[in-house]
Amino acid sequence: MSAHFRKLALIGIGLIGSSIALAARRQGLADVISIATRRQETLDEARDLKLGDIYTLDAADAVRGADLVILCAPVGAYDALARAIGPALEPGAIVSDVGSVKEHVVKVVAPHLPAMVHFIPGHPIAGTEHSGPSAGFPELFAGRWCVLTPGPEVPADQTEKLAAFWRAMGSKVESMDAAHHDMVLAITSHIPHLVAYNIVGTVADLETATQSEVIKFSASGFRDFTRIAASDPVMWRDVFLTNRDAVLEMLGRFLEDLSVLQRAVRTGDGDALEAMFTRTRAIRRSIINAGQETAAPDFGRPHDTPPEPETKFVREHGGGDDA
Ligand code: NAP
Repeated sequence: MSAHFRKLALIGIGLIGSSIALAARRQGLADVISIATRRQETLDEARDLKLGDIYTLDAADAVRGADLVILCAPVGAYDALARAIGPALEPGAIVSDVGSVKEHVVKVVAPHLPAMVHFIPGHPIAGTEHSGPSAGFPELFAGRWCVLTPGPEVPADQTEKLAAFWRAMGSKVESMDAAHHDMVLAITSHIPHLVAYNIVGTVADLETATQSEVIKFSASGFRDFTRIAASDPVMWRDVFLTNRDAVLEMLGRFLEDLSVLQRAVRTGDGDALEAMFTRTRAIRRSIINAGQETAAPDFGRPHDTPPEPETKFVREHGGGDDA
């Protein structure tokens, strides 16, 4: 199945949109790439970075004649964008997106699309905490999953064509039901972000003296939450507004499990704590074995060599974090 499209329209050109533009260009997946965004300064930045061939602030203009359209804006903007592009879409075009939630996307986008286009929502499980056109890089999707959630009305060959496009950018592709996607992502992505936002928020509320100590000693664990908690506020606001039910369901389970840990700490139940930490360690090992994370200690961060010969220390591996 060919992964090639005549005209690829990207609506939104931040981290994900620009990474698609760069990967599609490098792999020769589109003859023409047209880019639409909301603000002139973002459009100018995309043009300076030579991310596409056509640049416009009018999403409808961008999709005219496109055989692949991908919405790459925050999910909260989808309703208005779908209304705008609906009448301009080419018959037979594939319309997709990259939003982090899927049921809501189907609800707000599908009603505005003409019957003769193929709507195949998508979600690349790949990202960083950076935003904007300059944040993108063509390897972002390499080795990462892309989930497609086509409805039953979508012909299999159209889904396969979009899957081939993602595979050509390095992704592994899986199709699933939109509701199932939202439940899985609630626990693998949305709750971890909520926890990170919360723990970093707690530090932000501490008095200044304690806060500076937290920052000084952040390598003991806190630092790793701050990367996630630095993610784009608008994008994540929209995720929690639009995947409310699945997030609340998983948050309920999370809080129950947290209470169990709280009780174990309060009662000094070392066996319970050790059993839990042993199970969680096994999960990390399986993520590494699945190629979704580096096996290098401390995420492969470079470490300074200590000065010789006065100070010598041996760094122990496998003992957890630097706590
Ligand atoms: P980003 O870097 O912040 O870029 C967002 C883009 O959308 C910008 O071009 C922005 O335009 C445009 N936009 C914002 N609000 C808009 C509006 N109301 N109407 C039209 N355009 C608007 O965002 P991103 O990280 O690429 O995320 C884009 C999508 O990818 C989101 O739906 C997110 O859920 C999904 N996603 C993100 C990640 C991740 O790790 N970041 C991973 C997977 C999926 P202006 O700059 O011109 O305002």
